Amino acid sequence: MAEWELNRPERLPLPQPDEEAEPFFAALLEEKLLLQRCANCGQLSHPPRMACAQCHSFDFEWSQVSGRGTVYSYAVTHQPIHPALVDHTPFATVQIELEEGPRMTSNLIDVPPDEIEIGMAVEVVFERVTDEVTLPLFKRA
Ligand code: ZN
Repeated sequence: MAEWELNRPERLPLPQPDEEAEPFFAALLEEKLLLQRCANCGQLSHPPRMACAQCHSFDFEWSQVSGRGTVYSYAVTHQPIHPALVDHTPFATVQIELEEGPRMTSNLIDVPPDEIEIGMAVEVVFERVTDEVTLPLFKRA
C-alpha cells in the first residue's frame, strides 16, 4: 500500500472561520442559514466580508434566509483532488443562487452529477460534521 494511502485522512479539512465568518458558522450549528446584511444600504452578501461590496460600509447585521434557491452553475470533478476524495469521484461543486440573491458554493447530497440541471430548485440541509462544525449542503427541493 502506498504511503499516501496509509496516511489517508478520513475527511477533508474543516473550515477555520475567521472573525467575519464566525456568526455564519455559529448559526449553522443551530441549523439556521444567516447572511450578512449591510446596516447602511441593506445589501445581502456571501461569503462574509469585512466591508460591503456596494457601499463599503463596515456595519453589518445578520439576516436569516430561507435556504431555498436554484442551481446557478456547477463543475464536475473526476480526479480525487484530495486523498479523502478517492472513493467519492465524480462529484459536483455547485453554485446555488439563493432566492434572496447571493450565491453560495456547496454540494448536492441527493443528485448524481449527470442529473444536475441549471435552474434546478434546491433547499439547504444542515450536515453536522463534528460537534463544532455544521456545513450547509443542498438537496433537490
Ligand atoms: Zn452597503
